Amino acid sequence: MKDVSRRDFLKGAAAGALGVCAAGVFGLPQTAAAEEAWDVETDVLVVGAGGAGVSAAAEAAAAGAKVLILEKAGIAGGTTNLSGGVMQAAGTRFQKEMTAYQDDTPEKHAKLWIKAGEGMVDEALVTDLANGAPDCIEWLADTCGIKWTSLYGHCHIPYVEDELMADRIHVYEGGGAAGSGGIFVQAVLDYAKQNGAQIQFNTEVTRLIVDGEGVVIGAEATCEGKALRVRAAKGVILCTASIDQNVEMAKALSPQQYYDLNNGICMSVKTDTGDGIRMGMEIGAAVEGFGGCIDFCGRTGSATDNRVPTFPSFIVNQNGFRFVCEDATYAYHYRAIYQQSVQLDGATYMVFGSSSINNPDFADMGYYPAWSEESAKKDVESGALYYGETIEALAEAIGVPAANLKAQLELWNGYAAAGKDEQFGRRTGVMEITGPFYAYRNVAYNLGALGGLKINTNTEVLNVNGEVIPHLYAAGLNAGGWIGPYYPGSGTAVVGTVHWGRKAGKAAAANTAK
Ligand SMILES: Cc1cc2nc3c(=O)[nH]c(=O)nc-3n(C[C@H](O)[C@H](O)[C@H](O)COP(=O)(O)OP(=O)(O)OC[C@H]3O[C@@H](n4cnc5c(N)ncnc54)[C@H](O)[C@@H]3O)c2cc1C
Repeated sequence: MKDVSRRDFLKGAAAGALGVCAAGVFGLPQTAAAEEAWDVETDVLVVGAGGAGVSAAAEAAAAGAKVLILEKAGIAGGTTNLSGGVMQAAGTRFQKEMTAYQDDTPEKHAKLWIKAGEGMVDEALVTDLANGAPDCIEWLADTCGIKWTSLYGHCHIPYVEDELMADRIHVYEGGGAAGSGGIFVQAVLDYAKQNGAQIQFNTEVTRLIVDGEGVVIGAEATCEGKALRVRAAKGVILCTASIDQNVEMAKALSPQQYYDLNNGICMSVKTDTGDGIRMGMEIGAAVEGFGGCIDFCGRTGSATDNRVPTFPSFIVNQNGFRFVCEDATYAYHYRAIYQQSVQLDGATYMVFGSSSINNPDFADMGYYPAWSEESAKKDVESGALYYGETIEALAEAIGVPAANLKAQLELWNGYAAAGKDEQFGRRTGVMEITGPFYAYRNVAYNLGALGGLKINTNTEVLNVNGEVIPHLYAAGLNAGGWIGPYYPGSGTAVVGTVHWGRKAGKAAAANTAK
């Protein structure tokens, strides 16, 4: 059973479409509410304690503001806890110390993200993030005690120039594997607490409170069934991620996320139900950047890391034909998988042969196929893999036209003999595939939706008329426009949580108290 938002966010969306801003229809009744007593008073209220929330709290508290974080779950970290915590940045001292990239620049980094954004990103936001990312890496090291230990790069994007790529993905001690993002969260939260920030768990923020001039002055929350009114004299920072687990909002705003919630495996925490986006929309905030998501395939284990080539295999649609470059960065090829699945109303498959998993030289060549002969046999028995002695038998097993799949295999083996993939420009694993044959049905492991509230480079939330909603900020995946229609590569999201969180914390702390 999928988790559906308990709020009627469409009410907010409809208001937004009519151009109702904070000082309008929503402002007046909330002015009356604002005259009621406050249960808690703070300078800065941070909603959500994931990567963005703890970063916002850390900077606001370091700037001397009284900070309260309210977190819906029983622990801090959100989806950031589940991440590997790796972060992209160009030109850091660590990149210079640990890689061959001595002259990488934020400018190159921004160009890559903008190109990958396919015209859909806010270039000012992307440039701001690329420029600010190196300082986030240094701040985490110098202020929060994070120890950076290695760097790598992400896999190519077919239409992005190679000179824009670099080893920029920073890995910290204990990080890199799923589930190690908590190391970063705890380090930053500790620093925030040392500066006086307080955190309250099991408390769900439900509504923003706006005064008669349209300024956000607090929020309502519920804690163990009790209502709580929190005054935030300097501002509210929304850090509740995107609409990851909200089926209703995904249906309205993000077709790929909606598809994944129905057909894939969403790895985000269950509490990421788009609350911050709904609350912003409810008072007239605009949204930006919806549509894509962070999808990858847990079984290939490749296309996430430029040190790991994609093993000999190709992906086919319901017609038995290839449709994408398989060793491009993972969310790039997963967007194509989603589109093919919808357009042809059926699954796509990764096809490989016994030659793809039985080559004694693979380890020396850097290939790590996700199956051995033994594990493939077990997966065939359990139904997790399809098997065919011949390519025609495999085609029958997966229900695609045998002549097409056979023709595709012959084409592939021709490219392997010539050493060049003429169809999609794949770079690794273009080697002859011989039988018996296997097919794996692709299932998206969804790491979260992209898109959120529209912000400016100061992280202020904008309304549908492009005006700032005073004292309202959004950071991390709660904000949109800084990632394009697919996720360009590991380390983009988490560095965004640090950058936008820190900026929001500093900006709110600098406000004059209302
Ligand atoms: C398995 C996995 C691995 C990943 N690895 C990486 C990686 O290595 N590098 C990378 O860049 N990205 C990675 N990602 C993506 C990245 O982790 C997320 O995009 C990012 O961490 C989201 O951070 P956030 O602060 O915006 O949201 P979150 O970390 O999800 O925090 C949001 C918080 O808000 C709380 N909340 C929600 N609603 C309310 C409410 N109404 N009131 C109060 N609190 C609320 C939630 O409980 C949650 O704690 C990975 C994702 C997954 C799932």
